[in-house]
Amino acid sequence: IGILVSQRIERDTLEEIAQSLEAKATLLKEPAIRYFKRPPVTSFQNHIRALGKAVNTRLTVIRADGVVVADSEREPGSMDNHANRPEILAARSHGIGRAIRFSKTLQVKMMYVALPLWSEDELIGYIRTAYPLSTIDNRLRHIRTAIVFAAGLSATVALFIGFLLARHFITPLTAMTAVAESMSCGDYDQRLPTSRNDEIGKLAKAFNKMAESCREHTETIRTDRNKLAVILSGMAEGVVAVNEDERVVHLNEAAERLLSASQKESLGKPVWEITRVREVSEILSAALRDKTETQRNLQVVTQERKRFIEMHASPLCDGQGKLVGALAVLRDVSELHRLETIRSEFVANASHELKTPITAIRGLVETLIDDKELPPVKRELFLGKIKNQSLRLSSIVTDLLTLSRLESESGKLERCPVDLCEVILATAKTFVAIGEERGIAVETQVPDISAEVWGDEEALSQVVSNLLDNAIKYTPQGGRVWVRLHLQGDDAVIEVQDTGIGIEPKDRERIFERFYRVDKARSRELGGTGLGLSIVKHIVIAHGGRVTVDSTPGTGSTFRVFLSLASASM
Ligand code: ADP
Repeated sequence: IGILVSQRIERDTLEEIAQSLEAKATLLKEPAIRYFKRPPVTSFQNHIRALGKAVNTRLTVIRADGVVVADSEREPGSMDNHANRPEILAARSHGIGRAIRFSKTLQVKMMYVALPLWSEDELIGYIRTAYPLSTIDNRLRHIRTAIVFAAGLSATVALFIGFLLARHFITPLTAMTAVAESMSCGDYDQRLPTSRNDEIGKLAKAFNKMAESCREHTETIRTDRNKLAVILSGMAEGVVAVNEDERVVHLNEAAERLLSASQKESLGKPVWEITRVREVSEILSAALRDKTETQRNLQVVTQERKRFIEMHASPLCDGQGKLVGALAVLRDVSELHRLETIRSEFVANASHELKTPITAIRGLVETLIDDKELPPVKRELFLGKIKNQSLRLSSIVTDLLTLSRLESESGKLERCPVDLCEVILATAKTFVAIGEERGIAVETQVPDISAEVWGDEEALSQVVSNLLDNAIKYTPQGGRVWVRLHLQGDDAVIEVQDTGIGIEPKDRERIFERFYRVDKARSRELGGTGLGLSIVKHIVIAHGGRVTVDSTPGTGSTFRVFLSLASASM
């Protein structure tokens, strides 16, 4: 603005001066023409000088050939020929000439205006008016100084106001940027001040609202994801999810165990790369390819064990039905498999055990029916055998029924305070007599203590009875059997020791299995069913206790039953 104003002022002033000079030159035209018509008049120079002073303008009268005839500032004789001065040349060609240049005569920058003088179509000379521009320059300098000062002042004021305004708007924007950045890092708890009522205030309110809803959404997503992760990790079944490229997107803890894969290292990797169980990648590929559910059973053999796994794979589709991956659920059915094996083995064993005495009875009865001539002694012998076999049959059935009752009502055994001393003393009595018959000394070592446990008296009596029965059965004549009771910490320990045949270490683990016998023929001969220790184990476990065995083959065995004292559970 300063530059434009100063240029405008300069232009207008120069124009004004030029017009004024032109007017003055026009006024001088008449006297000059008169002078040219009646020269030479010496007073003309004085007249021009006086006139120039009066109008404060340099006046010059020039002949057509350029010779100065009068000048208000100098003596015409001392002046150069002016024919080639730009204003004179312009006046000759255009009827008026203007020029701004440095006057060598006056040593100052001047504006010149020249007009031609015509007398009856003859150019007789020129009138030239001139005005020094130093005054205008001074005036313009003042104006420029004022403008520069005003511009400087207004720039300072503008900067100050601008700074205040910028701070007014930038401070909240900076705060918003900081909050937005912390939101991008997952911190949705930052809020902006909402005290302003202008647009920035509205923006801050909207921003806070957005942060709140973002926080809520993120919280919901996080909660849902955590819930899902907890559900998946708590599942007994292994879950493997892959994307369309068969790369793992989820693998839960159970799958980690079943496939011997690491959850952390598996994510993002192709499924065939994370486990050696190639069936998993095959079933997932099939589910992705055929877009159908598939089921498959497989065996996984690891260093520790052999597992039976039931695998079920299904394609995964998004809301629009587009295939996005596949999911495999792996169920460890090893326990089921084991139970199934035990069950079928049990059925086979039970049938076999039952069949043996039945076949024997049948054979004996058929002989008795068919052979009428059978001597009475043999008949007696056969009848005795039939009796023994039916007793055996009866004990197998009784033991089986006991076992089945224990299995179906394991938790429902009668629970009342039972004095183990009484139980042992009462049960052992019978076995002392049996022992005597077989030449085995049965000794009872029960101290006079209170050993009360919560339990079923009849069942506990059966435990002692089965252990003593075995001890006598598997101890040769002349041997010894002890039944003891003592306290160990919070437990009462029933101990049955014998000097019998003992049990090999490899058999010790298995003797508690149903129908497991170290020596089948011997056990049968002695009237064993192979279920005695199984029943002992079941009863003890149902009482929350445990049973152990120590044995040295050829020297003897010690069975110990640990039961919690009633006083300990109070
Ligand atoms: P059984 O009716 O055959 O005795 P049990 O279940 O009571 O069946 O015992 C299983 C097997 O454990 C027996 O067949 C026997 O081989 C072995 N056993 C049990 N008790 C003793 C013992 N005191 N001494 C040596 N072997 C024993």
